[in-house]
Amino acid sequence: MDNETVDRENWKARGYLTSEEVDHPPREVLKGGAVAVIECPQRIPCDPCSESCPVGAIDMENVNSLPKVDYGKCTGCGICVENCPGLAIFTLDCSGQDTCQITLPYEFPLPEAGEEVEGLNRKGEAVSNVTVTRVKPKDRSVGDTSTVTVAVPEESVHDIRNIRRKE
Ligand code: SF4
Ligand code: SF4
Repeated sequence: MDNETVDRENWKARGYLTSEEVDHPPREVLKGGAVAVIECPQRIPCDPCSESCPVGAIDMENVNSLPKVDYGKCTGCGICVENCPGLAIFTLDCSGQDTCQITLPYEFPLPEAGEEVEGLNRKGEAVSNVTVTRVKPKDRSVGDTSTVTVAVPEESVHDIRNIRRKE
Protein backbone atom coordinates (compact mmCIF):
# COMPACT_ATOMS: atom_id res chain seq x y z
CA MET A 1 0.00 0.00 0.00
CA ASP A 2 1.22 3.47 -0.82
CA ASN A 3 2.36 5.43 2.23
CA GLU A 4 -0.02 8.26 1.38
CA THR A 5 -3.01 5.96 1.81
CA VAL A 6 -2.13 4.56 5.25
CA ASP A 7 -5.29 4.57 7.35
CA ARG A 8 -4.19 6.60 10.34
CA GLU A 9 -7.26 5.95 12.44
CA ASN A 10 -6.80 2.17 12.30
CA TRP A 11 -3.13 2.59 13.06
CA LYS A 12 -3.83 4.71 16.11
CA ALA A 13 -6.34 2.26 17.53
CA ARG A 14 -3.94 -0.64 17.02
CA GLY A 15 -0.68 1.08 17.96
CA TYR A 16 1.29 -0.50 15.13
CA LEU A 17 1.18 -0.78 11.34
CA THR A 18 0.29 -4.05 9.68
CA SER A 19 2.49 -5.41 6.90
CA GLU A 20 -0.32 -4.63 4.42
CA GLU A 21 -0.11 -0.93 5.31
CA VAL A 22 3.59 -0.68 4.49
CA ASP A 23 5.04 0.31 1.11
CA HIS A 24 7.33 -2.74 0.58
CA PRO A 25 10.17 -2.50 -1.93
CA PRO A 26 9.76 -4.99 -4.80
CA ARG A 27 11.80 -8.22 -4.51
CA GLU A 28 14.04 -7.25 -7.46
CA VAL A 29 14.98 -4.04 -5.62
CA LEU A 30 15.88 -5.98 -2.46
CA LYS A 31 17.90 -8.46 -4.52
CA GLY A 32 19.94 -5.54 -5.83
CA GLY A 33 21.15 -4.47 -2.38
CA ALA A 34 20.11 -2.50 0.67
CA VAL A 35 17.35 0.09 0.55
CA ALA A 36 15.47 1.97 3.23
CA VAL A 37 11.91 1.15 4.21
CA ILE A 38 10.03 3.88 6.04
CA GLU A 39 7.18 2.83 8.32
CA CYS A 40 6.16 6.26 9.53
CA PRO A 41 2.38 6.61 9.85
CA GLN A 42 1.90 10.04 11.39
CA ARG A 43 1.68 13.33 9.52
CA ILE A 44 3.52 15.35 12.11
CA PRO A 45 6.07 18.11 11.49
CA CYS A 46 9.24 16.03 11.25
CA ASP A 47 11.82 15.61 8.50
CA PRO A 48 15.28 14.51 9.77
CA CYS A 49 15.02 11.47 7.50
CA SER A 50 14.69 13.59 4.39
CA GLU A 51 17.15 16.23 5.58
CA SER A 52 19.85 13.69 6.45
CA CYS A 53 19.71 11.63 3.25
CA PRO A 54 22.91 12.41 1.32
CA VAL A 55 21.43 11.53 -2.07
CA GLY A 56 17.97 13.10 -1.78
CA ALA A 57 16.21 9.73 -1.89
CA ILE A 58 13.43 10.61 0.56
CA ASP A 59 10.60 12.63 -0.92
CA MET A 60 8.36 14.74 1.27
CA GLU A 61 5.91 17.25 -0.17
CA ASN A 62 6.16 19.26 3.01
CA VAL A 63 7.30 18.79 6.61
CA ASN A 64 3.95 17.18 7.54
CA SER A 65 3.91 14.68 4.65
CA LEU A 66 4.60 10.99 4.94
CA PRO A 67 8.13 10.36 3.61
CA LYS A 68 8.54 8.13 0.57
CA VAL A 69 11.75 6.42 -0.57
CA ASP A 70 12.94 6.65 -4.18
CA TYR A 71 14.48 3.16 -4.61
CA GLY A 72 16.27 4.36 -7.71
CA LYS A 73 18.33 6.78 -5.62
CA CYS A 74 18.61 5.01 -2.23
CA THR A 75 22.02 3.47 -1.55
CA GLY A 76 20.96 1.75 1.67
CA CYS A 77 23.56 3.69 3.66
CA GLY A 78 21.35 3.69 6.78
CA ILE A 79 21.95 7.34 7.67
CA CYS A 80 18.20 7.96 7.81
CA VAL A 81 17.77 5.00 10.19
CA GLU A 82 20.19 6.59 12.62
CA ASN A 83 18.55 10.01 12.32
CA CYS A 84 14.87 9.09 12.69
CA PRO A 85 13.58 10.08 16.14
CA GLY A 86 10.54 7.86 15.64
CA LEU A 87 12.60 4.65 15.10
CA ALA A 88 10.47 4.21 11.98
CA ILE A 89 13.10 3.39 9.34
CA PHE A 90 14.82 0.10 8.51
CA THR A 91 17.14 -1.05 5.76
CA LEU A 92 16.49 -4.33 3.99
CA ASP A 93 19.03 -6.17 1.85
CA CYS A 94 18.31 -9.47 0.12
CA SER A 95 21.35 -9.52 -2.17
CA GLY A 96 22.84 -12.48 -0.25
CA GLN A 97 22.36 -16.09 -1.24
CA ASP A 98 20.09 -17.49 1.45
CA THR A 99 19.17 -14.75 3.87
CA CYS A 100 18.27 -11.07 4.01
CA GLN A 101 19.81 -8.49 6.29
CA ILE A 102 17.58 -6.12 8.26
CA THR A 103 19.12 -3.13 9.99
CA LEU A 104 16.86 -1.77 12.69
CA PRO A 105 17.07 1.01 15.27
CA TYR A 106 17.54 -0.36 18.77
CA GLU A 107 17.30 1.44 22.12
CA PHE A 108 17.86 -1.39 24.60
CA PRO A 109 21.15 -2.88 25.86
CA LEU A 110 22.90 -3.97 22.71
CA PRO A 111 23.45 -7.59 21.71
CA GLU A 112 26.75 -8.79 20.27
CA ALA A 113 27.51 -9.80 16.71
CA GLY A 114 26.93 -13.54 16.39
CA GLU A 115 24.29 -13.61 19.13
CA GLU A 116 21.04 -15.46 18.47
CA VAL A 117 18.01 -13.33 19.33
CA GLU A 118 14.28 -13.51 18.75
CA GLY A 119 13.00 -11.69 15.68
CA LEU A 120 9.73 -9.92 16.50
CA ASN A 121 6.95 -8.69 14.24
CA ARG A 122 5.42 -5.18 14.40
CA LYS A 123 3.10 -6.37 17.16
CA GLY A 124 6.02 -7.60 19.27
CA GLU A 125 5.32 -11.29 18.69
CA ALA A 126 8.20 -13.73 18.11
CA VAL A 127 8.53 -14.78 14.45
CA SER A 128 11.77 -16.79 14.46
CA ASN A 129 15.25 -16.89 15.90
CA VAL A 130 17.66 -14.67 13.97
CA THR A 131 21.39 -13.98 14.18
CA VAL A 132 22.93 -10.57 14.85
CA THR A 133 25.46 -9.77 12.13
CA ARG A 134 26.40 -6.19 13.00
CA VAL A 135 26.01 -3.77 15.89
CA LYS A 136 26.56 -0.03 15.60
CA PRO A 137 26.36 1.67 18.99
CA LYS A 138 25.01 5.17 19.48
CA ASP A 139 28.48 6.70 19.89
CA ARG A 140 29.34 5.58 16.36
CA SER A 141 25.97 6.60 14.94
CA VAL A 142 25.76 9.63 12.66
CA GLY A 143 22.45 10.40 14.35
CA ASP A 144 21.21 9.58 17.82
CA THR A 145 20.29 5.92 17.47
CA SER A 146 22.09 2.60 17.81
CA THR A 147 21.41 0.07 15.09
CA VAL A 148 21.47 -3.72 14.99
CA THR A 149 21.62 -5.78 11.81
CA VAL A 150 20.18 -9.30 11.77
CA ALA A 151 20.17 -12.06 9.17
CA VAL A 152 16.64 -13.31 8.55
CA PRO A 153 14.99 -15.80 6.19
CA GLU A 154 13.75 -14.06 3.04
CA GLU A 155 10.15 -15.01 3.84
CA SER A 156 10.37 -12.96 7.06
CA VAL A 157 11.98 -9.82 5.64
CA HIS A 158 8.69 -7.88 5.59
CA ASP A 159 7.60 -9.11 9.01
CA ILE A 160 10.54 -8.87 11.42
CA ARG A 161 10.95 -5.31 12.70
CA ASN A 162 12.40 -5.72 16.18
CA ILE A 163 14.46 -8.14 18.24
CA ARG A 164 14.43 -9.46 21.78
CA ARG A 165 17.51 -10.81 23.46
CA LYS A 166 17.19 -14.20 25.09
CA GLU A 167 17.57 -14.54 28.86
S1 SF4 B 1 19.38 4.55 3.39
FE1 SF4 B 1 20.75 6.30 2.89
S2 SF4 B 1 20.35 6.71 0.73
FE2 SF4 B 1 18.64 5.43 1.45
S3 SF4 B 1 17.04 6.86 2.05
FE3 SF4 B 1 18.26 6.42 3.90
S4 SF4 B 1 19.82 8.04 3.99
FE4 SF4 B 1 18.97 8.03 1.90
S1 SF4 C 1 12.42 11.30 10.64
FE1 SF4 C 1 11.31 9.39 11.14
S2 SF4 C 1 9.53 10.05 12.34
FE2 SF4 C 1 10.33 11.89 11.27
S3 SF4 C 1 9.16 11.95 9.31
FE3 SF4 C 1 11.06 10.82 8.92
S4 SF4 C 1 10.48 8.66 9.18
FE4 SF4 C 1 8.89 9.90 10.18
